[in-house]
Amino acid sequence: MNLMRQIPDSESRRDFIKQTVLTTTALAALPSSWRSAGDASVPVKAKAPWYRRTLRWGQTNITEIDPTRYDTAWWRKHWKRTHTQGIIVNAGGIVAYYPSRVPLHRPAQHLDGRDLFGELCRAAHEDGVVVFARMDSNRAHEEFYRAHPDWFAVDAAGKPHKAGELFITCVNSPYYDEHIPEILREIIERYRPEGFTDNSWSGLGRGTICYCENCRRKFRERSGKDIPRAKDWNDSAYREWIRWNYDRRLEIWDLNNRTTKAAGGPDCIWAGMNGGSVSGQCQSFRDYKAICERADIVMLDHQARSDASGFQHNGEAGKLIHGLLGWDKLIPESMAMYQAGQPTFRVASKPAAEARLWMLDGIAGGLQPWWHHVGAYHEDRRMYHTAEPVYRWHKDHEEFLVNRQPVATVGVVWSQQNADFYGRDDGDLFVELPWRGITQALIRARIPYLPVHADHIARDAGRLSVLVLPNLGAMSDAQVASVRRFVERSGGLIATGESSLYNEWGDAHADFALADLFGAHVAEARRTANDAKRRKAAGDTVHSYLRLIPEGRAHVDGPQTGSEPAVKGDRHEVLRGFEETDLLPFGGALEPLRVDSGAQVLATFVPAFPIYPPETAWMREPKTDVPGLILNTTASRGRVAFLPADLDRRFSRDNLPDHGDILANLIRWVSRGDVPLAVEGAGLIDCHLYHQSGRLILHLVNLTSAGTWRQPVDELISVGPLQVRVKLPADVRGKRAQFLVAGRTVTVGITAGWSRIEVKSILDHEVIVLG
Ligand SMILES: [Zn+2]
Repeated sequence: MNLMRQIPDSESRRDFIKQTVLTTTALAALPSSWRSAGDASVPVKAKAPWYRRTLRWGQTNITEIDPTRYDTAWWRKHWKRTHTQGIIVNAGGIVAYYPSRVPLHRPAQHLDGRDLFGELCRAAHEDGVVVFARMDSNRAHEEFYRAHPDWFAVDAAGKPHKAGELFITCVNSPYYDEHIPEILREIIERYRPEGFTDNSWSGLGRGTICYCENCRRKFRERSGKDIPRAKDWNDSAYREWIRWNYDRRLEIWDLNNRTTKAAGGPDCIWAGMNGGSVSGQCQSFRDYKAICERADIVMLDHQARSDASGFQHNGEAGKLIHGLLGWDKLIPESMAMYQAGQPTFRVASKPAAEARLWMLDGIAGGLQPWWHHVGAYHEDRRMYHTAEPVYRWHKDHEEFLVNRQPVATVGVVWSQQNADFYGRDDGDLFVELPWRGITQALIRARIPYLPVHADHIARDAGRLSVLVLPNLGAMSDAQVASVRRFVERSGGLIATGESSLYNEWGDAHADFALADLFGAHVAEARRTANDAKRRKAAGDTVHSYLRLIPEGRAHVDGPQTGSEPAVKGDRHEVLRGFEETDLLPFGGALEPLRVDSGAQVLATFVPAFPIYPPETAWMREPKTDVPGLILNTTASRGRVAFLPADLDRRFSRDNLPDHGDILANLIRWVSRGDVPLAVEGAGLIDCHLYHQSGRLILHLVNLTSAGTWRQPVDELISVGPLQVRVKLPADVRGKRAQFLVAGRTVTVGITAGWSRIEVKSILDHEVIVLG
């Protein structure tokens, strides 16, 4: 059932052929070295549109003082030095960087008649560089508000919502239906940019309700209801308000694209901008799946890492968005060359090592680089040297970095609806932490995985042997059915916490929708658990443990209690590595469950007991029958591991290696060992494996550093040697490995369909092409 393992059954073969057709279309416009990678018979005339072939991007985000000091000649040299093929140039929105005739489209403070946007657009086109005109359509100055007070968002008392001195425009007003389209048309007629992006196109976020006349009228037309007075996730009007807001952003997306294509031709696209986190997209009412279904390119505004999710989040963001958008399209990502994040210093250089690792992990996940500076003049000139070496390497090896298919057998399932209606106001606790725990356990174990949207399970099932539901509480009936079909076809399943316990609106079922697969059911007592209790159980770390079963072995080397003889018994393979312990630290709370007779409980709950003073630190209740880990094998031989114990969330928060190790063991067990990559050797290495026709491409990003979990990294620490084994698909001979960073090619040993490669040393990253 795995597409990449053996070339394929008829269904995945169709996908393969379809993908090859797309790939060759995109390849046609590229240098001959690209075409040699694909199909040599492709007619060279079939030129791919600019948004499919612009692989390196740059942006000088113009501040209002810059018209007095923008040194266009210097920046042109910088485009050239960095092999930049596309730039993002501020055009209009809050302020105009060209002399606009659109009423109330105010010129930037120091523009003074200069047509800065026009100059840069012309310079770029002369240099063969494409231009995304950047808009910022979200707020306006007071004079605009005075002229059209009904175009602005207001609170329940009619008071305008402001951000600093600026007034926030309402998405349901003519500001979006008339004013912005007029600006788009003016810019196209005068300058002919290739397309448009928009910094903050989606208006007010989820945290604020607008009660303007337009909103009241339109919501009533749609729902027959008044705008909800307050947030209430259990209120049907509030739920409808949420969905209505998503739909309005999609209307704006479509309207802007109709406008730019009508004025500038079919390739003059409007691409907005989107974020790298699902929770951020939720807060902004941006439906990522629906957006990707209509987008030709995703301009990703995700500039720097957070300590909680690490560099690896960038590679994951690439895979998650490509999963929605397709792997034949591009996702350039704005990568800050300044100190972005915590803290932010807009005109100070980010340490080059930090910026570089963020870029390299993004490239490993299929993102295209987009250097980003705020302001056109900097006294800290170090930031000008960061992008160049990465871009030079990227240009030299671009044929391996796009138009490829990920190879992974583990799919980690997500949905934006779950983040909204199950996560609600505690998305970090209920959605993000379990997700990060699972994915970090996978990265740590060097097991390649793919984020899989819950609506795409059937589409992606052919390449996967495992689905993971990381506390995926809210699931639709169709999503539940697709998981069930996957397991019926002998797929493996891991589910944690409250997975499948709620419908798509976040209303609780009486039992897990997948209870029969889990081999476990909600006990009567659980049904009374209220939200505050759930939040406390998930949010607190208490002094509780998990007891491993069967406990004891024939020869225990340690003190005995004397009261109970050691029990003979072999540990299940998912407990491998834990032979010398009968207990694991846990930290959470568990409720009783009813377990089916065929299911096997491998760990039980030991309730919390005091930590302090030490005299009191003994178990009051050493044994319960409350399950923490349940294994079940279905009639169709599908292996299922259900973890009521939230080890995913715990691992993300507490970083205890036991939790990560158990999760990795479970994934290997349910996959029946079907993992296409093994990497041995010390260090935190983020591994991404891809397939192109006749070859495999393996990215190894070395995240081992003193600053791994606390930004910024200012020193790279090399790791190695690493022993790498890769399973070869039918079309890859795998006898030759080209190291794209070390710059050497070696002959590879092959055993039983696996290539064996030694990687002597990795400083920041290595990319190995096996052909
Ligand atoms: Zn409004």
